Amino acid sequence: MVTTGVMTEAELKRMVGFTPDGTFVVSLYLNVDGAKHPRLQDYEKELRGLLHQAEREWIHGDKGVDKAKRRSLKQDLDKIGAFVTGNWRRDGQKGLAVFSCAAAGFWHVFELPVGVPSALIVGDEPYAKTLTAVLDEYKRYCVVSVDRRKARYFTVYLGEIEEHHGVFVDERVPDQVKEGEWASLRQSRIARHIEDHVLHHLKDVAGLTFNFFLEHSFDRLILAGRSELIPKFRAVLHPYLQMRVAGEFQAGPDAPLPEILKESLRVEEDIQRREEEALLHRLEEEAHPGGLGVTGLRPTVDALMRGQAHILLIKAGYATQGYVCYRDHFLATADGVCPVCGGKLSEAPDIVEDMVQLAINQNVQVEHISHVAERLAQDKVGALLRFGL
Ligand SMILES: [Zn+2]
Repeated sequence: MVTTGVMTEAELKRMVGFTPDGTFVVSLYLNVDGAKHPRLQDYEKELRGLLHQAEREWIHGDKGVDKAKRRSLKQDLDKIGAFVTGNWRRDGQKGLAVFSCAAAGFWHVFELPVGVPSALIVGDEPYAKTLTAVLDEYKRYCVVSVDRRKARYFTVYLGEIEEHHGVFVDERVPDQVKEGEWASLRQSRIARHIEDHVLHHLKDVAGLTFNFFLEHSFDRLILAGRSELIPKFRAVLHPYLQMRVAGEFQAGPDAPLPEILKESLRVEEDIQRREEEALLHRLEEEAHPGGLGVTGLRPTVDALMRGQAHILLIKAGYATQGYVCYRDHFLATADGVCPVCGGKLSEAPDIVEDMVQLAINQNVQVEHISHVAERLAQDKVGALLRFGL
């Protein structure tokens, strides 16, 4: 079973909360970004390295792991290896997350739109923090496509579209008056009659949309249809849903699915760009002595270490070397000793990954800036702070 991004929040919670009975869970994160790994062999090589390391450490190592656990773990590693190097192909995705516990029949695959640090974690439960942090950056959209007598529902999440419930057709709405068929007075009466039906239809669709919201708990709503109909539909929506309207486009219920997806992604991109701009605007306003913002690697690392960070902003794809004490979760931009244990810091090949990990552990929101990346060209990273100093 392949679980993609359309998993509901409840299902995700169940997946994250899974605890096997006396066996390990293997969590794999693999960076499959085409910019970093142009060929399949590139990320397959990285995967093989991670699998071999886990095998050496946990199966042939001296950790005293019992036989049943080792057997189950071997199955997990083999299954993951076979899956990634088998028929699976990235299709524009940049990250892959796989969770497996063969002994319990537990197997979940997530294809992700952003690159993730490659890692393989053997533990007593799924290591899901990286996954949830990625998913938290993406909103769930509901698209309602409506015309004068029909409606269709879609959800768009992580670049995928799913249709729900089929086409809702309101049989009460009569066909439109044909031109020239009626005298003008009669025509206007009939038109009024039709308009009443259309309004009823829109109210029905608004009610269905609210039910759909209760069932699917989407974050935002996109309205699709003819431009003269959308304001009427919007006006009869529940106020709670009106607040969630993110945008609109012209495509009726008969539009092909790829068109609905393309237009929805355009609305989503517009919103993401505006949100990124707003965040960077706040950062620029606050990045002064005593302000609630810092920019640049070192001040941002320091803010994270002091627990000040509220939102971590990273130019998408930024990676740089640094220093860490993995035991005490201490990060630094320069070599030295850990102030907690006094041990020598280790070199971290990409400290940005460690910052993201630390941020996730501290429940700091992580935002990868990709639409207005040029605004972080200089500083690369920054943070909005909970409190100043
Ligand atoms: Zn230390």
